Amino acid sequence: MRVLPIPCLSDNYAYLLIDPETNEAAIVDPSEPEPVLQAVAENLGRNGDLKVVAIFATHHHHDHVGGNEEVATRLGIKKVYGYASDNGRIPRQSEFLEEGSTFTLGSLQVRILAIPGHTLGAIAYVVTREPSDPVVFTGDTLFVGGCGRIFEGDPPMMHASLQKLAHLEPRTQVYCGHEYTESNLRFATHVEPSNQAVRRAIESARKRREAGLPTVPSTIGDELAFNPFLRANSPEIRSTLGIEPVASGAEALGAIRRAKDSFK
Ligand code: ZN
Ligand code: FE
Repeated sequence: MRVLPIPCLSDNYAYLLIDPETNEAAIVDPSEPEPVLQAVAENLGRNGDLKVVAIFATHHHHDHVGGNEEVATRLGIKKVYGYASDNGRIPRQSEFLEEGSTFTLGSLQVRILAIPGHTLGAIAYVVTREPSDPVVFTGDTLFVGGCGRIFEGDPPMMHASLQKLAHLEPRTQVYCGHEYTESNLRFATHVEPSNQAVRRAIESARKRREAGLPTVPSTIGDELAFNPFLRANSPEIRSTLGIEPVASGAEALGAIRRAKDSFK
């Protein structure tokens, strides 16, 4: 499968997901129409029989669904996927997903994880097609080196959602909703200064950004190594932030999230 990041707005990513076998494609989180339509047009040029048949929404926020209406109209897209309870908040939604829902995009298998916390209807799309590495679209729940703000849920909910993602195969490629990597990793190294994986990630993100490239994808294995929100049990993070060793993972996650909210 092919995944093309499409930079939108100031720091959002929409994605063009293509099944190479059937040339069926989906747009993940079209923030705004123009860059998405342009990316589709460029790929039509290279691949005349590309059929964009679906929009995948990770959650209802405007910077993720703002392009749904126009993109669906202009490309004749009928299927707009989102979580069932986001009904009415995702423009043109036609498919109402739950935890464990499955469907196909051409030869690609798609499976839904409910990952509430940032919003109550946040979902991840796990896309597989052997022998490719699996891919997950995480919206604003798991970022490279960070996690989203907890707007509609609470820390235990966000912790459970992040743990669900953490248990995907380590080689799973992570495509998230925003380019926040460098600031996330500044926080990561502040809370866990001896973590060498964080240092290496900072270096590689800096090079990619200097070259004008996105920092996505990372992998679940990478995130387990450097993302403080998947490392709530790290003794160093706990001691930096004054989190008791006996505190639960959910309590620690809440404390790490609060520290990040006020980190400059
Ligand atoms: Zn959001
Ligand atoms: Fe967002």
